[in-house]
This record gives sequence, C-alpha cells and structure tokens, in this order.
Amino acid sequence: MDVQAPGMVPGLFFGRVNISARRASNLHMNAQTLETTIRTYYYDTSKPAEAEQYARLVARLLKGGRRCFATLSECGAGKGYRYTWVPKRGKTIELETACIFDNQWNTAPIPKVSAQGHRVFDWAEDVFPNRDIKSGHYLKQTDAMKAIRKSTLKCGWCGHHYPGGHTAIWCTACLDGPDLEEKLLPLLVLMPAGASHNDTRPVLSADDLAVLVADYVQAQTVGKHSRAVAHKARQRRDVLAKAKRTIACATMERDGKIWLLDHDVSLDNVIFYDHTQRFSFGWRTPLSADVETALVEALKPLDAPEFPFPYDIQSV
Ligand SMILES: [Zn+2]
Repeated sequence: MDVQAPGMVPGLFFGRVNISARRASNLHMNAQTLETTIRTYYYDTSKPAEAEQYARLVARLLKGGRRCFATLSECGAGKGYRYTWVPKRGKTIELETACIFDNQWNTAPIPKVSAQGHRVFDWAEDVFPNRDIKSGHYLKQTDAMKAIRKSTLKCGWCGHHYPGGHTAIWCTACLDGPDLEEKLLPLLVLMPAGASHNDTRPVLSADDLAVLVADYVQAQTVGKHSRAVAHKARQRRDVLAKAKRTIACATMERDGKIWLLDHDVSLDNVIFYDHTQRFSFGWRTPLSADVETALVEALKPLDAPEFPFPYDIQSV
C-alpha cells in the first residue's frame, strides 16, 4: 500500500513502534496513526438525573453523526469492563490507519494497557439485562478521522485500501482472483472506506464497464499478473521438488537392491518404502532369530563397508 507523505492530512504523525511482528503482518502495518480521545460513560437511567444526563449525551453523539454499536455486555455487572482501562477523564489514544472501517478503529499499542492495541468504536454501548443501565464508550471525531475515512477508498470485493489521492475508479488488486466471477465486477468499484452499508456503490458507465471487463478478461487469462506469476512459480517449485524426491527414492532403491544382490541377500522379503526412504527386511514374513542374525552379518560384513542405507528388520 502506498503511504501518504507526512503532513498531508492534518493530525497525522509517524513513528509508532513496539507492534508485534505478527500483528504488523496481519494489518499490513502502516505507520500512520491518528490521535483522538476515548471516553466512557455509565448511567443508571432509573434515576431521573442520570436519565437526563444520558439523554443529553445521546443527543450530542447523534448530532455528531455517530451511530451506536450495541453489544451484549460480557460482564453483566454494569461496569463495561472491556473499557476499564479508560480513566474517568478520558484517555488520549492513537488509531491505526492500515484498515479503515465505517464505525470502528484498531488502536496502536497502548502503553501499560495493551501491547496489541484494542478495537474501539466511534460509539459502542453494552446491553445489560437491566435495561436501565447505560454503559459504553465513544471517540472524539477529529477532522483527521473524518478526512481519512472519506479519502481512503476501499474495494467492495477484496477490501483492498487505496490511500487518499489515488485516482483509481475500481480495484485492480483482485482482478485475477480465482473466485471473482464477471457478474461481481461492480463490487470492485471503489467507495470511501468510511461509507456505511446503506451507501450506494457508484454505477459505472457503459464505457467504463467495458474497460473493466476487458481488464478482467486479461487478468484472468493472460496470467502475467503478479498473483498468476506467483501461482505458476509455486507450481514449478512443486513439480521440481516432487521430481527430485522421486529420483532420490528411485536411486536409493536401485543402489540398495543392487548392493543386496551383490552381497547375496535375497530381495524376496525386503521392500523399500518411498515415504520413509528406508528398507524393511521381513516385511512379508517376519524373520526368525537365526535368519535375523545371518542377515545382520550379511549387512555388516567384516571385510567390507556395511549396507549404506537406513533399514528396519521385522522379526518374530
Ligand atoms: Zn479488490
């Protein structure tokens, strides 16, 4: 993904570290973070004063354009414990921008709280069995947050992000995908990452659609796209690796059996297993003690090198 130059979006800054390699890889780590404030609330609306305070808060949050994400409380004790790391006065946090959602964010690692970061919502509320209890959290909606949601474009099929300033109309990252049917191409038309499910994806003109279909046909058939190239390279490696192992097994079986013939050991009761690359004596009929002794003597002659391959002896 392209990384926007520092300073292009007000409020963006760089230099976040201490993120685990696994998480960084999962998130296609993008060093941009946005600063905002998280606050929590807790009201018992059976009390008139708290009910009034809650109503005022809801009105303010709705006016700010937030939509409430309601979740069943995991604690049921009225504490919304998932956000107990937020002090009463609120907490300044940094939001990652590698993945942009319409109603939530991943935070950067929060010192002394979480090395992995947390999932936070523009506004989330826990639903308790006692419906009078209203507990949740919300984020201050900064201009930078609004801007990046608007400027970042997202594919409706694969979710690939295109950072602000990108001029693409449709996604090219998934055009050669094996599961992408032609009838699904309209989903590749990019929309702001902050668009909600209710927003309508732009419809391509007939001319643009014809170009997209042509690009799709080429990506699906020519096989020069990076994913197709990588797929072919994998197949080539697999073919070569299989051939190498097959040749190694055949060579070992040939040389082993020739050695046995040269040393007058019968091949009738020995087999070579490809999967273990070992010879097995007595595989058809387990050897008696006397036969085993004679065989070992034959395999380890006193006056010559011993049988040079791994083997097992099945004895009675
Ligand atoms: Zn895509």
